[in-house]
Amino acid sequence: MTTFDLRQAKLRPGEEYRDEQEIALSPYDLGGQRYLPVPETVLAELAINRGTSGTTFELAFPVRLHGPCYRCLKDAVLDLSIRAREYQATSPGESDELRTPYVVDNQLQLSNWARDAIALALPQQILCREDCAGLCPVCGEDLNENAHEHEEDRSDPRWAALEELRERL
Ligand SMILES: [Zn+2]
Ligand SMILES: [Zn+2]
Repeated sequence: MTTFDLRQAKLRPGEEYRDEQEIALSPYDLGGQRYLPVPETVLAELAINRGTSGTTFELAFPVRLHGPCYRCLKDAVLDLSIRAREYQATSPGESDELRTPYVVDNQLQLSNWARDAIALALPQQILCREDCAGLCPVCGEDLNENAHEHEEDRSDPRWAALEELRERL
């Protein structure tokens, strides 16, 4: 868990703090599969701007995730470019919109923030390639390696029962 102590930035209104931060990331569980950030730490650019009524936080970093393809289960790699922005009012009062959940006791929760920002950028399905053919629903063979179809099974049990009934009439 990487956090950043906001007191060390010592910002006064109108000032900006800009620095590179190494952020530790944890794996993602998506659709029952596990995706690992490679490497497990990312080098992020952090910018903090203090205004008179509040502070703006910006985070930008590239990340690469490794995990199984949603369709064929072979290795898939996903590259994302993350940009996130948060705002914290100096006196937010009761309003949740004026505060960021990633500032707790003057600590900016970089790992949590980065993790959520990646989650928001994830596609519905992570694929080994856009046109992955997936696995055969009948025999489970990889359709990318061996494209094939099975002959349709025509002996539907409902028809068989009807046929039997007809014979008895
Ligand atoms: Zn695939
Ligand atoms: Zn098959």
